[in-house]
Amino acid sequence: MAVVFPEKLSLAQLPTPLVALDKISATLNGPSIWLKRDDLTGCVESGNKIRKLEYTLKHVIDGGFDSVITCGGVQSNHCRATAILAAQLGLRCDLLLRGEPSDTGNTLLDVLAGAHCQFYSVANYQKNLESLLQERVKQLKQKGFNPWVIPTGASDGFGIWGYMQAFDEIINDCKILGFSPDAICHATGSGGTQAGLTLRSAQMGFKGEVLGINVCDNAQYFAQKVRQDINHWAKLNQQSLDAITLNIQTIDGYVGKGYSKTQPEELACLQHLAQLEGIILDPVYTGKAFYGLTQEIKKGRFEGVENIVFIHTGGVFSLFAYSDELFNSHLEG
Ligand SMILES: *Cc1c(COP(=O)(O)O)cnc(C)c1O
Repeated sequence: MAVVFPEKLSLAQLPTPLVALDKISATLNGPSIWLKRDDLTGCVESGNKIRKLEYTLKHVIDGGFDSVITCGGVQSNHCRATAILAAQLGLRCDLLLRGEPSDTGNTLLDVLAGAHCQFYSVANYQKNLESLLQERVKQLKQKGFNPWVIPTGASDGFGIWGYMQAFDEIINDCKILGFSPDAICHATGSGGTQAGLTLRSAQMGFKGEVLGINVCDNAQYFAQKVRQDINHWAKLNQQSLDAITLNIQTIDGYVGKGYSKTQPEELACLQHLAQLEGIILDPVYTGKAFYGLTQEIKKGRFEGVENIVFIHTGGVFSLFAYSDELFNSHLEG
């Protein structure tokens, strides 16, 4: 399918490396696991959100908007990336954050970058997010600003271009290394990464699988959310989806104690990978998803599969908000 990528801002360090995780692959006695290092898309602006924001913020700048409003959990990687990129681009940034105020990890960076942070209780946020966003738009307009609202995770028809492009990048990385991946796995949270990869894989007739491992909600939710983002993309770009078959696949069962909550086996897996490979995952997304991947390999889900690409979608700064749990209960030696 001939799809012409729109222009974007050049904000991320691309392409990111694709590296072999030989040692962990050997211990699992399964497929070769390759790590797509999207934790290296930058320093403080690193992770997967910057790929989406390259497209979203291009639209913001071209549209003549002078400020952005976005939202997420207190330790949102998306909010932190948005705050830093907004500062780079000279845009005002307002963040609506869910949960108790924090002074570490991502929140510290939000504040340093000059974002206007407001914290809301979980109940209030969950019930009223849309009206809280609209209220903020109104307030900013009264102050003379022209704001653009970026949805949770920049997951919509603008942002998903970022992971459509990343799909092509991954396939090219693998080609250079002499293989075609059997599966591309990643943590899924607001659905945009999964939507971009799933859409592009369908357009390109990819023979392997794109597998989101959900860290919140369930497979049914992601089936609906991914489709919603892809439909939005099709509408914005006047594209028909008739000729392609979307295969939205979510591996459910690894939410554990709930979004942003950890359990010992997940932290042990995170620590194991840190010590074995020198790769640091985060407790909210990549740590859970990678733990899920190792369990699925052990259960035989990937019997006969040769190569799996796991995307390291970033998130290192939220680790610092979990130092108590990591230090006191699980770290040894
Ligand atoms: C946001 C995020 C994800 C999930 O990506 P979505 O596009 O929101 O589904 C995965 N990993 C990290 C570290 C993230 O910050």
